[in-house]
Amino acid sequence: MPATGPIDCDLHPVVPGLQALLPYLDELWRETAIRRGIEDLTTISYPSRNPLSFRQDWRDDSGRTATDVGTLTRQALDPLGTRLGILNCLYGVQAQFSEDLGQAMCRALNDWVAREWLDRDSRLRASIIVPMQNVEMAVDEIDRCAADRRFVQVMLLVGSETTLGRRHNWPIYAAAERHGLPVGIHAGSMYRHPITPVGWPTSYTEEYVNQATAFQSQLTSLIAEGVFAKFPNLTVVLMESGVTWLPAYLWRLTKFWKGVRSENPWVADPPGSIVRDRVKLTLQPFDVPPDAASVMRIIDHMGSDEMILFSTDYPHWQYDGSDVLPAGLDPALGRKIMEENPLRTYVRLRERETVT
Ligand code: ZN
Repeated sequence: MPATGPIDCDLHPVVPGLQALLPYLDELWRETAIRRGIEDLTTISYPSRNPLSFRQDWRDDSGRTATDVGTLTRQALDPLGTRLGILNCLYGVQAQFSEDLGQAMCRALNDWVAREWLDRDSRLRASIIVPMQNVEMAVDEIDRCAADRRFVQVMLLVGSETTLGRRHNWPIYAAAERHGLPVGIHAGSMYRHPITPVGWPTSYTEEYVNQATAFQSQLTSLIAEGVFAKFPNLTVVLMESGVTWLPAYLWRLTKFWKGVRSENPWVADPPGSIVRDRVKLTLQPFDVPPDAASVMRIIDHMGSDEMILFSTDYPHWQYDGSDVLPAGLDPALGRKIMEENPLRTYVRLRERETVT
């Protein structure tokens, strides 16, 4: 592992098909998948032929990108001299309606990631994918995977069945805090509700842009329900959320918190300071004009330069070439984003020894 270099907090390995997970499913579900002829779990998030889904020059002849470590290393790690990378596997496991199927698929997916990816490159770490269909099963999966210290985070999808701050979801945060794992909320959905609060969109552009409104709803829920007060050591990472919505949103939230804070007496601190202390955001897709002055302005509005974590969001097409940071950015700030902020956020990234 290189001693220095960027730490990529959002990389997506691609599951080549359900066939790849069959060896990791127990017998019941392996037979069920074969008998039902399930070849893949797909959702409308990132349809594979969509240009945004995979950068064009990273696609192979079949249109896919990294279904193996070698391709990921060649396309995402080596060109940037990446020191460590966190794998966030997006596969349709959370969208299944059967709690048992969701649990079986999550277990298989996490074991597939450990054996086929983490075992094969010491720079790789991963998020625990949990069956959001059932909180007890989610906690079991966190406890099971957390013993492998290469799992550095618990991943939830922003499009959940109930707002994430609700009390019945709290055992997930208790488990994450107990194991020293941040909770990363990634773009994507269980598809129990439209991504907008006013109905189903009809185009992919609407679907993707509206993910930011879902992030706002979830952040409001976590703050208002008191998750940050109840779990004082919990960090929340918003992944692939964009960043420019945050300052205006916080201004509005703080204004109304001042007005009606009597209904949420456990929110003792202004929402802006809670978010600055406890919430991080991954860099890509970076929805800021591509010049250093604009970047500094948005960071000034956020009130902290410790919130943004470097990410490429590989293999999604969020930038061209190797321009992952805006040109002209102050080198000290670049170092913070690429190395210091991720190391401060993820306790387990600071561990040199790998315990499995
Ligand atoms: Zn992502």
